Amino acid sequence: MNTPHESAVLVAEEFVALYGREPEGVWQAPGRINLIGEHTDYNDGFVLPVALPHAARVAVARRDDGRVRVHSSQGDGVVVEFTVDSMAPGSVEGWAAYPAGALWVLREEGHAVPGIDLHLDSEVPFGAGLSSSAALQCAVLLACDELLGLGIERPRLARLAQRAENDYVGAPVGVMDQTASLCCTEGAALFLDTRDMSQRQVPLDLAAGGLVLLVVDTRVEHGHADGAYRHRRAGCERSADLLGVKALRDVDVEAADGAALDALLARLPEEELRRLTRHVVTENARVLAAERLLAAGELRALGPVLTAGHASQRDDFAISCPQSDTAVDTALAHGALGARQTGGGFGGCVIVLTEPVRVAGISAAIEAAYAAEDGWNAPAFFTATPAPGARRLG
Ligand code: ADP
Ligand code: MG
Repeated sequence: MNTPHESAVLVAEEFVALYGREPEGVWQAPGRINLIGEHTDYNDGFVLPVALPHAARVAVARRDDGRVRVHSSQGDGVVVEFTVDSMAPGSVEGWAAYPAGALWVLREEGHAVPGIDLHLDSEVPFGAGLSSSAALQCAVLLACDELLGLGIERPRLARLAQRAENDYVGAPVGVMDQTASLCCTEGAALFLDTRDMSQRQVPLDLAAGGLVLLVVDTRVEHGHADGAYRHRRAGCERSADLLGVKALRDVDVEAADGAALDALLARLPEEELRRLTRHVVTENARVLAAERLLAAGELRALGPVLTAGHASQRDDFAISCPQSDTAVDTALAHGALGARQTGGGFGGCVIVLTEPVRVAGISAAIEAAYAAEDGWNAPAFFTATPAPGARRLG
């Protein structure tokens, strides 16, 4: 991978080649992995993501004619054009809806958005559960915020990015990905309470703990905007209603164990609602436990929390898939301390907490397990170190 500054120069050069003038600046926003806290964000709960070195970059220059032009190196090769005045949900479709949505939401907030030329280039693979969509939108939003001098606080900018993805793109996502991309800091995981956006940086020095986080891309593409995500979200909302709480986050996490949880779940009329609720309640408890372990420097003890989180998303929330389960089981069988699928589910990436000496063996074993199955893509691997959140590069 190029350094961020080499990449900024490249993106700026591509901008000049496309539009025949210099950009006013280049911004980047990273993808993320989530250590733990899956599908808790739209239940007002807790999450613990880490920014990746992989980022989306955007070169930007304003125009004075109210027109918008957007191009992405990973798009369809076309410069998509529209006017600021014509932006409304549905007016721009395909990949360009992501940058268009970011401009639209600023306008919805009452900011004067001028015409603009944008060129995007991203290292975050699409649909791999690493949040390429939030990286793209956060890069555009931060660029506009700083270029136009809007002074919007980052947690608020994350809410706007979420609204852009919910209402313009039509994906019913929570606020974790956007907050991770905008608010994470180098060398730390971000503990976020999605109800009030309160957050703290939790130092995560894997090397000092003699550990690495291996990321396994299962190469199964998920789709957020699809019915499965929506269905689970609706189920969580119904359960909260039936239990008489504002959101499932309000179920006391003390109830995450044993009899108290069983008694609570018995109040729900359907097995599916009981399973969805059990996942969210126990997952919130796992985020709190993980945050305590990280703060205490007990990194190895994080392993079983991750693995329990995987079992919960496999058995209760039903968002795993054979490739993710195989990666988790194989990693554990080859000495990993813990492993789980990360991101919205149905494929994407698996994170594995292990010692550096085990990485080669675990990777080879997962590769072999995939090769033995008919029609499975070969997995891809990298190790993750907590990178900085979104920023201006040049
Ligand atoms: P994830 O966020 O987990 O990668 P999503 O389905 O939420 O997956 O978002 C992926 C979509 O975001 C892509 O299908 C594409 O439309 C858009 N996207 C992300 N990065 C880029 C990019 N660099 N250029 C164009 N479109 C992108
Ligand atoms: Mg996404």
